[in-house]
Amino acid sequence: MGHLQESLALLDHVGPVRLSALHDLGIKTIEDLLFYFPFRYDMIVEKDPNELLDGDKVVLKGLRINQATVNFYGRKKSRLQVQIMVLNHVIRLIFFNQHYLKDKINQLDEIAIYGKWDASRQQLIALKLLGGFKEGQGQSFEAVYPASQAIKAGTIRQLVEQAFERFGEEISDLYPLEALGPYGYMSRRQAVYNMHFPKREEDYQKAHEQLTCEEFLSYQLRLQDLKLSRQKGKNDGYKIRYDLKQLKKAIQEIPFELTQGQKQVVNLICRDFLQAYPMNRLLQGDVGSGKTVVAFLAMIAVGTSGGQVALMAPTEILAQQHYERFKKMFPDLAEDTCFLSGSTSKKDRQAILEALANGQALFAFGTHALFQDSVHFKGLTCAIIDEEHRFGVKQKEALCAKGDWVNVMYMTATPIPRTLTVTLYGDMDVSLLKEKPMHRQGIKTFWIKESQLVNVYQECLRRVRAGQQVYFVSSLIEESEELDLKSALELFKQLKKHFPTEVRLGLLHGRMTPDEKEEVMDAFQTGHLDILVATTVIEVGVDVPNATLMVILDADRFGLSQLHQLRGRVGRGATASSCILVADPKTEEGKERLRLMTESQDGFYLSEADWRLRGPGSVFGVKQSGLPEFRVGDLYRDQEIMFYARQIAHQMVTEKEGENYENCH
Ligand code: ADP
Ligand code: MG
Repeated sequence: MGHLQESLALLDHVGPVRLSALHDLGIKTIEDLLFYFPFRYDMIVEKDPNELLDGDKVVLKGLRINQATVNFYGRKKSRLQVQIMVLNHVIRLIFFNQHYLKDKINQLDEIAIYGKWDASRQQLIALKLLGGFKEGQGQSFEAVYPASQAIKAGTIRQLVEQAFERFGEEISDLYPLEALGPYGYMSRRQAVYNMHFPKREEDYQKAHEQLTCEEFLSYQLRLQDLKLSRQKGKNDGYKIRYDLKQLKKAIQEIPFELTQGQKQVVNLICRDFLQAYPMNRLLQGDVGSGKTVVAFLAMIAVGTSGGQVALMAPTEILAQQHYERFKKMFPDLAEDTCFLSGSTSKKDRQAILEALANGQALFAFGTHALFQDSVHFKGLTCAIIDEEHRFGVKQKEALCAKGDWVNVMYMTATPIPRTLTVTLYGDMDVSLLKEKPMHRQGIKTFWIKESQLVNVYQECLRRVRAGQQVYFVSSLIEESEELDLKSALELFKQLKKHFPTEVRLGLLHGRMTPDEKEEVMDAFQTGHLDILVATTVIEVGVDVPNATLMVILDADRFGLSQLHQLRGRVGRGATASSCILVADPKTEEGKERLRLMTESQDGFYLSEADWRLRGPGSVFGVKQSGLPEFRVGDLYRDQEIMFYARQIAHQMVTEKEGENYENCH
C-alpha cells in the first residue's frame, strides 16, 4: 500500500498544532496535500544588482567564481557561501542551514537564485536555489497557497516540497495520456510537480489543464455509470404502453397549435416511455415557452396506459394553477384528477389518499404534500417535477420512491448555461424548448431611478384604466422573510395612498396561509384586482395573460435569472408588455446587470452573464445549487474541458459496455 492515503502526521515538522491547522483547510492525507494547489503564482523577477534596495526579493543569475564553502556553528547550524559574478558585480550568496547544497552548487557553472538582498554587506541571502542558469530561463514562479491564521502559505509550501520529495513517486496516472486528448501533456506526477514548482507559466497552465481534465473526466464517468445503472434492470414490463389515438385526441382538444419544439419534446417523451427502462429527462425552457402543456400530454399518455402520474410543483399557487388548467383543458379527465397540498382539508385528504391508493385517481397534482409518508399510489409510473431546482434531492427521490421504476421528468424555467447543465444534469437526457408560442410579444424593459417612480404611477393608472393589470414586486431582502414582508406592506400602503380609490389593490406575500394566497391570486387572475403587490412568491410559474406591466423595486438586489423569471410573468397575452426596473445600484456590477436586463430577453444569455458576474449560485436563485466542488477545475473558466470530458466519458462507457447495452430506441 502506498502512503498517499496516510495521515499528514507522517511528515516531519508536522505536530498536532499543524495537523489541526491543515485539517481546517481540508487537508487530511498526503494526497490531499499534494493536490492542494496554489491559487496564485508570483513571478520572481531578475534584476540588475545596481538597482537593488535593501530587503528586495529578487532573482540573480551569474557565473560561479569560486568553490562553495561551509561553516558550522552553534548546534546544527551552518552557513554556506559562494560568490557569483552578475554583470560586473561580484556578489556573495549565503545559504543558512543548507550545507547539503554544497556539492550541487559546485557542479554548477552558472547559478540562478532567488533571495533577499542585504545591501550593507552586498550579499544575497538565499531563499531558493533555482538551479543552473539555463533552467532559470530569466524567470521563475513562487507558488502562493491559500493559507489561514493558523498556518502560513510558506509553511504549506515547505510541507508540499517535503511531501513531493518523499512520496511524489507514488502519484500514478489515472487515465492513459491518449484518453486526455489535447489535454494530455505529461505524467500525472509531473503535472502535480508543475503545479507546485513551475519554472515557466506554461508549466502550470498545461498541468492545470491536464489535472482539470482528469478531474472532470472522473466526474463525468461517475455520471455515465449512474445513467447505466439506471438502465440495468431493463424489463419490457416497465414500458409505458400509451394509446396513441387517445393522445392525439387530447392534442386536438388543446385550444392552440403546439409549437414545433413542443411537438418534438412530446415525441421524445413518448419514445422514452417505450424504453424498457425509466425515463430520466430534464425539460428546460425559458419562461413562457409552454412547458406545462407538454407535461399535460405526458400525463395523458401515462393515463392511457393505465398508470398513475404525479405533477409536483413547489408552490401551492402554481400546483393549483396546473390542476385547474388541466381540468379546464381536458374536462373528460376531471374525474380521474386530484389535487393534494398542505392545506387540503382533512376530510378531502382522506378521500384523495384513498383514490390514489386504489388507483381511481390517475392524475395527481400537488405540492410537497405528494411525497409525504401517508401518500400511497396504486401504480405510480411517472413523476413530473416542475421548477425542479426548488426541490431538494431527497424530496425528489421521495416522490420517485412512491412507485417502482418511476419515469421522471424534471422541468425548469431557469435557463441553465450548457456547462452547468452537463455538470448538474449530466446523467439525464436534456431537452430544450427554445422558441416561444407565436403570439408572444417582446417585453420592453426599462431601468429607472427611484426618484422617477412617480412617473411609473402614471403609466400604471393608464394601463389599469385600459383594463390591464399590473404587478408590483417589492424589494428582496435576502434571508429575512420578515423584512420582505415589511417592505411589501410598506409598498402596499404607499400605493394605496397614491392611487384613486377605484383602483383595486391586492397584496401577496409568503406569510399568508395557502388559502389566503389562493384567494388573492384568484382575484387577480379573474380580474377582480388591478394591481398586485407581491414579494417574490409570484416568481415561479404564475400565468395571468392580462397582466402587462411589472414594476420591480430595488431591482439590483435580484440576480439576472431571478429578474428574468419575474419579468416572465408579463408578456403572456396579446398586448404589448413592459417591465420597469427601479434601482439605484451602487456597484458597477449592479449597473451592468440592469443594463443587461434592458438589452436582452434571452434567458440563456442572461444566465450565462449571471454566472459570470455572480457565480453559479445566482443562476438558480438559491444558495445551494448542488454543484460539485472541484479541486482543480473551475467550471466557468474550464468549460471547454468539461465538454471534452463529457464526450470522452460517453465514448469510454459505450465502448466498454457496448455489447451489454444495445440501443433501445
Ligand atoms: P412555462 O414554460 O413558463 O411554464 P407555460 O406552460 O405556463 O410556460 O405557458 C405559458 C402560456 O403560454 C400559457 O398561457 C399557455 O397556455 C400558453 N401556451 C403554451 N403553448 C402554447 C402554444 N403552442 N401556442 C399558444 N399558447 C401557448
Ligand atoms: Mg411553468
